[in-house]
Parts: sequence; structure tokens; C-alpha cells
Amino acid sequence: MTGSAHCPEPTLAAGSMLHGFRVLRVEQIPEIRITAYETEHDKTGAKVLHLHCDDRENLYSIGFRTPPPDSTGVPHILEHAVLAGSERYPLKDVFNELIRGTLQTFINAFTYPDKTIYPVASQVRTDFFNLARVYTDLVLNPRLLKETFSQEGHHLEFVNQEDTDSDLTISGIVYNEMKGAYSSPDALMYKVIQEHLYPDTPYSFDSGGNPEDIPLLSYEQFRAFHRAYYSPTNARFFLYGDIPTADHLAFLAEMLAGFDRVDVDSTIKSQTKWRKPLSIHGTYPIGKEDNPAGKTVVNAAWMMAENTDYETAILLQITSGILVGSAAGPLRKALIDSGFGEDLSPITGVERDLKQIAFAVGLRGTDPDKAARIEALIMDTLQKLAVSGFDRDLIEGTLHQIEFHGKEIIRSAYPYGIILMGRVYHTWLYDGDPLEGLNFPRIIEDIRKKWEANPQLFQEIVQTWFLDNPHRLLSVMEPSKTYQSEREEAFKEKMRRLRASFSSKELDTIRLNASALKRFQVEPDMPGAAAKLPKLNISDISRAIETIPTEKTSIENIPVMVHDIFTNGIAYLDLAFDISDVPEEIQPYLPLLGKLITNMGAAGLDYEEMAKRIVLKTGGISYHLSAGMTVDGRHNWQKMIFRIKSLYRNIRDALNIISDILTAGDMSNEARMRELIAERKNNLHASIIPSGHAFARRSAGAALSVPAYRDEQWHGRTQLKFVTRIADQFNVTKSDLLAKLTSLQGIAFRKERLCINITADSEGIALLSEGVTEMVRCLSGNGDVGNPDKPSFPPINTGISIPAQVSYVAKVLSAPAYADPLSAPLFMLARQLSSGYLYKHIRVQGGAYGGMSQYDPMSGIFALLSYRDPNIVSTLHVYREAIDFISRNRTSREELEKTIIGTIGSLDKPMDPSSRGYIAMIRNFTGLSDEDRLKFRNYLLDMTPELLLEAASRYFSAAIDSAVISVYSSYENLQKANEVLEKKLTIEALT
Ligand SMILES: [Zn+2]
Repeated sequence: MTGSAHCPEPTLAAGSMLHGFRVLRVEQIPEIRITAYETEHDKTGAKVLHLHCDDRENLYSIGFRTPPPDSTGVPHILEHAVLAGSERYPLKDVFNELIRGTLQTFINAFTYPDKTIYPVASQVRTDFFNLARVYTDLVLNPRLLKETFSQEGHHLEFVNQEDTDSDLTISGIVYNEMKGAYSSPDALMYKVIQEHLYPDTPYSFDSGGNPEDIPLLSYEQFRAFHRAYYSPTNARFFLYGDIPTADHLAFLAEMLAGFDRVDVDSTIKSQTKWRKPLSIHGTYPIGKEDNPAGKTVVNAAWMMAENTDYETAILLQITSGILVGSAAGPLRKALIDSGFGEDLSPITGVERDLKQIAFAVGLRGTDPDKAARIEALIMDTLQKLAVSGFDRDLIEGTLHQIEFHGKEIIRSAYPYGIILMGRVYHTWLYDGDPLEGLNFPRIIEDIRKKWEANPQLFQEIVQTWFLDNPHRLLSVMEPSKTYQSEREEAFKEKMRRLRASFSSKELDTIRLNASALKRFQVEPDMPGAAAKLPKLNISDISRAIETIPTEKTSIENIPVMVHDIFTNGIAYLDLAFDISDVPEEIQPYLPLLGKLITNMGAAGLDYEEMAKRIVLKTGGISYHLSAGMTVDGRHNWQKMIFRIKSLYRNIRDALNIISDILTAGDMSNEARMRELIAERKNNLHASIIPSGHAFARRSAGAALSVPAYRDEQWHGRTQLKFVTRIADQFNVTKSDLLAKLTSLQGIAFRKERLCINITADSEGIALLSEGVTEMVRCLSGNGDVGNPDKPSFPPINTGISIPAQVSYVAKVLSAPAYADPLSAPLFMLARQLSSGYLYKHIRVQGGAYGGMSQYDPMSGIFALLSYRDPNIVSTLHVYREAIDFISRNRTSREELEKTIIGTIGSLDKPMDPSSRGYIAMIRNFTGLSDEDRLKFRNYLLDMTPELLLEAASRYFSAAIDSAVISVYSSYENLQKANEVLEKKLTIEALT
């Protein structure tokens, strides 16, 4: 991403034909520096949209409308299966090959409720077209082998493979992935609302697949779904980046040659509006030892306008922002202040990824008997707002947020092109204008004018789409201690009945099929198959590293780092406080301090007024707790980092806000404090199922280094236990809590601990530097930073019991820091294990959704992890074998080259301006210089099979003794595992 402020000159004219494509429209959108080309392939009717700009991270994506006919997950299983291989690329897993051996900056596939999208991105032109070529062929001409269907979808097998007397069970990657999804309360609540709000449409089905329905899908139905929807006629190609449109069209003409227009009806039907509101009761799983009281979630949800009615859609989005988007939102506030529940429901806000927009709001941490009162409160509040109107600042603040986020260049987990693609699809998928949602500055201008002409604009929206809209659903989700066991029992019963229905010959066929599948999985690909994939050479890869401009200076004796980067008019400021010597007993309070201080009152203003200031003048204030080892592994650093971002015109106000928070933060509002703590507890709790592997890694890693210990203490189960205790005994703990937090405030926010980091272009830097000087004068300063405590945590193999149908298994080893000669090989070994041994044994053969390895030189740990795993014991066995395998077997030259290219690709992921500034700061704390990075890169590029093998055997033979295991799973599964495991897991409840 560079700094040009213009969009590219148009190179094609509307109405012209090129390479068999009719150019329907060419439009420049200077506000986002894009020239858009909408074209259609004459012969097949394939739709192509190219957003041409100067970003060299080009994105290619193929999307199909895929309305699900049922909840067997057919679109999802197909999404997995097409990527396995095609006639031209007859490998067993092309997708994995592409991850391993290309410079892709993004490669994935997504199943939505009504569409399936296959995006790839790269910064290197040859690599980009290689990826696009393979991806297109996979999607349009997949092999869809029966084995692939069984492996990705579902198949029957015996618990003990060869023993037809052992229990019958179902396995499959999507099957286990969805078992994980159906263990997540948030995911279940969302599903229940979506499925019941649109009962007469494809949205009433789960496109991902309900584990109970997945086994009903037949191989024939699966193939038929591909035939029906995966044609160029039903395809939408979305392209983004600096490659000229004509080059894309020439490429696509080649890819689409041989295809004809087909008959396809993939229209997404609209839901007819209800005449009166409905309600639905559902359940979600909690642990056996959990108390169900106060754990119900109540939501009100509305079906609203069609997404193609763009103006209403955006007005609804703004109205949602006003109502619930900030702590000052009147609907949010009314719900919280009512005391009917702990905090806002996680399903709150507008949903745009469906044909008809939905809005939901509600309370978490309540009881079923309060549902009617909650609903009445929501309706009364809306009624009052429709009459009395909204605070002007709050509307301005919401418009500012939309302006800010439309302007900010973001490239975090996804390329920027993906974000634009999402906006395009909101209308394009439903045959609306694809460009309508792109020009944020103009949209905001239009809305502002409308609002000025009609000050009641937003009240009218509330009246029409909320109060006068009978298409409303009240959803009550109650916790159930037996949810899990009932499902497990029902499954066992189903398997018993199924077994009884089979003759012994049929049982034997199941055994034979399952072992045939296992053989297929371990069999190497046909000789020469891999060579058919287009590939890069090591010599094509640049030896240079990308550097981040950094200038070191000081303000009032405080060290400052300045990064002169084009940020599109947004300034980023990080204030990093050294917290390494904060006494051990108050370390766990640091995350709460961050959460409370940024969300409560300050400088005489209450939290509502502060929240309003924040939305009006900043793009957000966040806090991070971060710890790491220095490059040489000899020291640790620990920081509490506050980040504030704002448009240049608001820098002064933004600095005043953060200054008020740090010097005059007021945490005395007890009710607000209680709510924020509950929110933190509930959010942490809800994140376990979606990221159980990370929780398991933290639990195991805590014993191995100070940074890993802090990670567990601040972000892991230890923090969850801590916050749960504080929240559950708030009345007892509150005065002690306030005293601790106040003392932390006094200890932490001092000048001598501070390090300042500024990211902006020269105009923003000048404005920030000036303001920051004033701000730091307000900070107190006395004394020095003391000596850090050395915390310790015993290395115990634990089993943490959680209410889930699947497991997360972690084995973590102590590992060296960045400057160690082993670090480059370890970095590569982790990648090789992830896409090689573990992928094959944990995912392909084991049926888990994921198996991976991570090396983190900053925390000094090397981890082996599984995600949504049906196994525990055999996974631990695979880990042992994996280490053994990699320490004994020499990698082939060809494999190594793939790993090198893939590893370099992962290092070269593009970063947005904000991350570049942030990463440069972290590198500075670590003492990581550009010379170190260059050395590391060259070490990777010059790696030989011998060096890699030598490093693996040397590292693992020494580190294996440090290994700690942690497994997150149901109590039953943990116990069952312990019956077999030699070294037993110490089983503990989650909190
Ligand atoms: Zn999936």
C-alpha cells in the first residue's frame, strides 16, 4: 500500500468487448483510490468485478451462490472437498500444497449461509496467477473422490479400527469442526436466531452442517450440489489490486474456455414478513459443576430491510451504532442499567451478510423468567427514543465512526481486498449494484444532508423498522447441564441401533471401507502429480527484508519512536508502560485495570460522557498486555500498552481523552465496574471453545518461561479463574479490588516507565509530537523501575474439563530465543510439522479440524496443538511420533524448497500502517534489529536438509524433557484418556 491519492486512469471503456468479456461499466471512486470495472463473460454469463488500485497485494476470488437445501452441511463439505484435487492436479490435497509452497499472503475458503467464496492473494505476480490458475481449476473441475467425501464429510468406523466388536462411531473433518461449533454457546445462539427468523428460506438451514444431520448426506447428493451451483454462469469473480484489468480478463478467458451458459436457479428467496412476533426457547451446554442460575441469554431480533435497499441498510447500520454501538448507546444503557442481566448479549447489532438485514439486541447472564420484562424494556426504550429523539453528539459520534473505519487502511488477518469484497457482496449477491457500498465518504455526506434536512430521520427509522415491524423474534437460550450428555447418549444409542441393523457382513464392509480410507490417506500421491503444480524457485525470492522507518528521539526525557508512514490521515499513538516490577500479587489485576480505566469515567465526567467523547473524537482506545524475551534470551520485558487512534483533525481532543484516562481515571462507579467485570468474565469464557487450542497452549506453556507465564496469567485460564472469583463475589471483593486497582494506577502510569510510539505521515507526526509533549507533562514521575519478580509455575500435565463435544490437546516444550542458531530451523520445523506430519495424522487421519505446531521465540516455547479433535490419547501418540520422525528423517530437497518458500511467504505477509508501527515498537522492546532479521532470512533461504535434520535432533533430544501437556475436553473424555495414559493428567474443573 503506497501513498498515491489518485485512482488509476481507466484503460477500458464501458460497452467495449475484450477477450470475450463485455465491459458493463467503468467507475472511478477517488475517495478510496479505486477504478472499478464491472464485466460479464459473454459465453457463460460469469460476472467479474475488478477493483483496480495501486495495492500490490492482489486478490482473486471465486464466489458462488449456494443456498443450502438442508442442514447436512453440503455447501461446507463441498468447500473442503473441491480443494483436494482436480483432474489436472490429481493430488490428494492441493490446498495444503499451496499453503506450503507458495508466497500466498492469504488462501482460504468460506461457507456463508447463502454463498461459498474461494479467495487467494499474493504480492508476486507470477505466484498470483499460479494460485489463481490452480484455484479456478479446483473449483470448476474437482475430482470429488469418494474418499475425499468420506474424509472431509463423514464416514463410519470402529473405535478400534480392525475390531468389528468395538463401538461404531462417525468421523469426518467437517463433522468434528461442526461438533466444535455446536459446543460454542455464542455460535449456537446465533444459529437459533438466524434459523428461526427466516423460517421459509435457505437461512432456516445450517450451511455449515448440524452434526446430527451431516451423516444423512449421500455422496450422490454431494456431487449433485456441485453440478447445480459450481458453474461459471453462477459464479462471481471478485478481483482487487494493481494488476491491469485486461490481464485478468485474458487469464479468465483461458480459464473459462470450454464452458457454456447453463440453467441455474440460485436465487435467494426473501422471507415473507410476519404479522406478529414469535418466540423461541433453546438450550446451550454448560459444565456439570456449573450453576445454571443467571446464565440464560435473552435476545430480541428483527428481520428488516433488503440488503439491496442500500440507503435503508446504511441507515439501519447507523441506527444500530447509535442504539448499542457504544457505552453511551441509550438502548444498551437501558438494558445494562435495568440489572436484569450481567452484560449485553454477544449477539448484538446489525447482520448484513444475509439477503434481508437482521438486528438483534439482548442481555446475557439473566434468567428465563426475566425474558418478558427484558423484551418490554427494549420496546419501551425504543418507543421513548422514537418520541424524544437522540443526543446529537451520539449521532455525530456514530457518523464519525463510520467515516473513520471507511478511511482506515486495515490489513490484519485479512487483506484489505477481502474487506472491500465483503461490502460488495452485501448487494452484488442479491443482484444489486456491487459498487454501492464502497464509497463511504460520499455515503456519510449523503446521510448527513438527509439528517440535516430531517432531524427526525433516525427516530423515523426506529418507528418503521423496530416499533412498527412485527417480524420480531424473542429468543431465550437457557443453559443446560445435560445438553452434552444427552447428545452423547443419543449418539451412542443411534450407533447401537445402527450396529444392530447391520449384518456381520455389512459390519465387515464398514471395517474394510474404513481401512481402505486409511490406506488412501497414507498412500503417497501418484509420481509426478506434485510436479504438475506451477511453482516458484528459491532464486525468485528476494533476499532483502522489508524495513519499517523508525526514528528514535525523546520528549521530556521519555524515549520516543517515530514511524513516518502513509496512514491515510489517521494518527496512531502507543503509550507503553513498563510493568515488569509490578508486585506479583497484583499482576493478575492488570487486565482489569486496562479494561476498567478505558471504559469508565475520568476527569469529572461519567462513563457515558467519556464514551461519547471517545466515539466522537477517536477511532478507539485499546490496551494490550505484552511480554517477551529479548533476542539473546537473557532478559524479559513486560509492557502495558495503550493505543489511541484518531483522524488528524481530532488529534488534540484524542490526546486530552487519553491524558484524562491515565491521570484522572475514575473507577468509583460500582455498578459500571460490576458490569465491566462481568463482561470480561463472560467474553473470556465464551472464547474457550472457539480458541481452545490457544487456552491449552497457555496452560501448558506457563511453566516454561516468564513471558509464557504472563500470557497464561493475563489471558488464559488463570485469568478466567481470577475474574470469575472477582465477579462472583463482587460484593465481598469490591473494596479490596478498588484499592488494588488504585494502587496499580499509581504504580503503573508514571513517566519513568513510559515509552512512546508514533505512527503517521509527517503532518500527523508534527501534530502528535506537539500534543504529546503537553500530555506527558501531566504524568507524575518519581522513582525508578524496580527489579522484576520471577514468578514460577509448576509443570503439571493437566486435563481441564469443559462442556465440549471435542478436545484441544497441547504439548509444549521450552525453546530458545531469536538469536539462537536453532531459531531459524525451529521456525521452519514448526511449519513443516503443521503442513506435514501433524496435518496428515491429526487432521486427515485423525479427523480433527486442525493439527499444528508453533514456535514462538519471544515466549521461548515450541508447541504441538490440536483443534476440535475427536481424540486425546492417539493425538498425544502422534506428537511423540512426530518429534521422533522429524529428528530422524532427512527432508528431501524438493520438500525443503517448498517449506522455504512457504516460510518466507509467512514472513512477508503485508502489514497495514497501524501494525507496522506497532510491530516496530515490539521489535524494539525485544532488541531485534534489521540485521538480525536479515541474518534470519538468509539462514532460512540457505537451509539444507542436513542442517535442518541436525537442528531437529539436537533440539528435540534436549527439549523433550521440558514437555508439558494440557488437554481441554469433557470430564468423561479426560477420564477415559487417563485409563490408558501412562502419565496421568491431573483433571481440574475449568474455573
Ligand atoms: Zn470447514
